[in-house]
Amino acid sequence: MSIHEECGVFGIVGNANPGIAREVYHGLYALQHRGQESCGIVVNDDGVFISHKDRGLVGEVFSENELSAMPGGRMAIGHVRYGTTGGGSRSNIQPMVVAHKKGNLALAHNGNLTNALELRDYLELSGAIFHSTSDTETICYMITRERLKTPSIEQAVLGAMRYFTGAYSLVMMSATKLIAVRDRKGFRPLCYGKRPDGSFAAASESCALDAVGASFVRDLLPGEMLVFSADDPGSEPVSYRMHCGGKISPCIFEYIYFARPDSLIDGISVHETRVRAGRILAREFPANADVVVGVPDSGLDAAIGYAAESGIPYEIGLVKNKYVGRSFIAPSEGERSDTVRIKLSPVRSVLAGKSVVLIDDSIVRGTTSRRIIDLIREAGAREIHLRVSAPPFRHPCYYGVDIDSEEHLIASRHSAEEIAELIGADSLGFLPMESLTEMSGCVSYCSACFDGEYPGGVPADPRKDRFERRLSEVTT
Ligand code: SF4
Repeated sequence: MSIHEECGVFGIVGNANPGIAREVYHGLYALQHRGQESCGIVVNDDGVFISHKDRGLVGEVFSENELSAMPGGRMAIGHVRYGTTGGGSRSNIQPMVVAHKKGNLALAHNGNLTNALELRDYLELSGAIFHSTSDTETICYMITRERLKTPSIEQAVLGAMRYFTGAYSLVMMSATKLIAVRDRKGFRPLCYGKRPDGSFAAASESCALDAVGASFVRDLLPGEMLVFSADDPGSEPVSYRMHCGGKISPCIFEYIYFARPDSLIDGISVHETRVRAGRILAREFPANADVVVGVPDSGLDAAIGYAAESGIPYEIGLVKNKYVGRSFIAPSEGERSDTVRIKLSPVRSVLAGKSVVLIDDSIVRGTTSRRIIDLIREAGAREIHLRVSAPPFRHPCYYGVDIDSEEHLIASRHSAEEIAELIGADSLGFLPMESLTEMSGCVSYCSACFDGEYPGGVPADPRKDRFERRLSEVTT
């Protein structure tokens, strides 16, 4: 699988806490799987916002010295990023901090606005000057513009939400409030929890609540804004629901691939959905095989489900090298080794002479799948029956996930039989589209990258580098 993750947001609010930056660090560590390009933390030290952010993993950007140097406070937010809109430049690293006439705002965003360029045009024509190419800065601008016209930050955020289309889960901070917002379709997850000391945490996934000792309270409703007051620590958050209602479309791919298996999203266990996907695959695409093997990490749960349903033994047939990180230098085209061989090792004693059911979470271009199958074949497998715990990818995502354009997606040009031949599998089965409800328990969801039906619309310029292109058009 070569899809990059998207982003993760985290925030915490409560009594004055000298180690609040460290708490956010723990939350971000739990969300690292959602973005490995850059990260940042902003602490609200009695209205003064102190931030540290940089490119790199959470453990690289925040050394003991960095954490010790950050002040304490009653609130802090953090972000892990893989850039999907606006590229990976340093100015796009989040959380973003803006100072305006009525105060400060720090904001962390997961998702992509589909009308970000139109809003940016509108803002620039009225004199706004942007420092980044990220749609997150557009969100900050829209909120601060509203803030100048409204008596409170709550009214400003609710007013700005009228203009946003597409995907946004936000955690933001004013001088005295921590605010969590989920877009009206609920594309990206967002939940909150409470700790025994009365402090609250909001996070992209419940695994980050666990990391700071917060008990999961609930997911935000699509369209909901929750406001936590730092002036009244321990008081329950106030919920604003005027943007709630209408058809919701949470991202079905969160369950299949992005989220950590120990997370709950919209009340549904990610691990359980993956196990159910494996069970469905076993019923729809049975195989006469000796062993079921999952591709680590997100193929493992579905492999357990396939084995349980089919009665074929589950084995660890591929071991992942946990230490291949962001700093790993990938082999060049001309070198014999490839990244897959360095990341994954076959367990020969499990595979040699066997007919293998191999479970992976998706096929993108097909090159990674081909290499994994080669690896297993070289370990002596007699037959390889690939089962994929997602439907075929045929379309790009405009809601915050870096899925390639159609010409790069193998399933947009080839049938399952053709793909099996191209990647060297003896047979291939994808999770049927009509099984997504059974898999997840969701009756309403986004599955646009599989079926091309975009519940949040499509950007007027759908090109991936639309921000950079527009800027170069402006400057030439
Ligand atoms: Fe998720 Fe695919 Fe929809 Fe994007 S297009 S939000 S990845 S289901």
